[in-house]
Amino acid sequence: MTARAGTLYVVATPIGNRGELSARAREMLAAVDAVAAEDTRHTGVLLRDFAIDTPLESLHEHSDAARWRSLLNRLAAGQSVALVSDAGTPGISDPGFELIRGARAHGIDVRPVAGPCAAIAALSVSGLPTDRFVFEGFLPARSVARRRRLAALADESRTLIFYEAGRRMRAMLADCRDAFGDERRIAVARELTKRFEESAQLDLADGVAWVDADANRTRGEFVVCVAGAARATDKPPTADLDALLTELVALTGTREAARIAARTLGVARNSAYQRALVLARE
Ligand code: SAM
Repeated sequence: MTARAGTLYVVATPIGNRGELSARAREMLAAVDAVAAEDTRHTGVLLRDFAIDTPLESLHEHSDAARWRSLLNRLAAGQSVALVSDAGTPGISDPGFELIRGARAHGIDVRPVAGPCAAIAALSVSGLPTDRFVFEGFLPARSVARRRRLAALADESRTLIFYEAGRRMRAMLADCRDAFGDERRIAVARELTKRFEESAQLDLADGVAWVDADANRTRGEFVVCVAGAARATDKPPTADLDALLTELVALTGTREAARIAARTLGVARNSAYQRALVLARE
C-alpha cells in the first residue's frame, strides 16, 4: 500500500486489544512519511509491536502553533502524515481537531482510516436505543458545573454517552441520579476489550452501589450510556404531575415531593423539582 502524497490520514488505533488495529491502519502507518502522535512513547510501543519504523512526531493539545504549521507545510509540500491518539479515534475527546481544521482550511486532503471508538463500542453493547444518540464526552470535573450540565440534559430523549475516569465514577453517577431520577436505565462499560473488561446495565438508583461493590470500579476507563428521557408524548400530563406535587409538597416538602413524584410518574427528579418550585411560586 502506498500513501497518497499530501494527504493527512486520521488513523484509529486500539482502545484495548491490540488486534483492533486494522490491517489498513497498520499498512498506512508504515506507508506514510510521518506519524503525528499524542504521546510518542505510547505510540512508539504500538509501532514497535507491529515492526513499523515510520518517524514519530509529537502533536498534542499543548503543542505550539509552530508545530501545527510545520506539519501543515509538510503536507502542503506533498508529504503524507498519519495522525493518531493514544487510543481510539483521534479528535474524539482527543487532540487532532486543530490539525484537521487547519488541513481542511488549506485544501489538504484528509482521509479517515476508520476503527475503534470507545463511545461506539460501549453503545453497541449497551442494550439501550442506538437509533439516535448524543455524545457528550467528558462532563466537567467540578461538581457544580457537572450538575448544571446534567440538569440541561435531563429532558434529552436520545441515548446519552459520557466518558469518565474511574476516580470520578461515584460522584458522576450520584449526580446523574439526582438529575435524571432513580429509574433511568444506564449501561456502564469499563476497560472495554482489555483484560478486566466488564459492562453492566442497571437503574441509576443502583449506580453508586455498583461502584462501591468492587474497589476496581474506581479505576480504569469508563463509558456511561444513559437512556434518554421519556419523549414528551410518553410523559404524564403536566396536570398529573402538578396535582401530585401539590399534595406531596404539603406533606413532605419540596425535595422529597419531587423525588416521590418523579418515581411515581417516571419523570426526571430534577424536572419534578423545578416544577415544584414553580408551583410554590404561583
Ligand atoms: N479517542 C478515544 C475514542 O475514540 O474513544 C477517546 C479518548 S478519551 C481521552 C479517553 C476516554 O475514553 C477514557 O477516559 C474513557 O472514558 C474512554 N475509553 C477509552 N478506552 C476505553 C475502554 N477500553 N473502555 C472504556 N472506556 C474507554
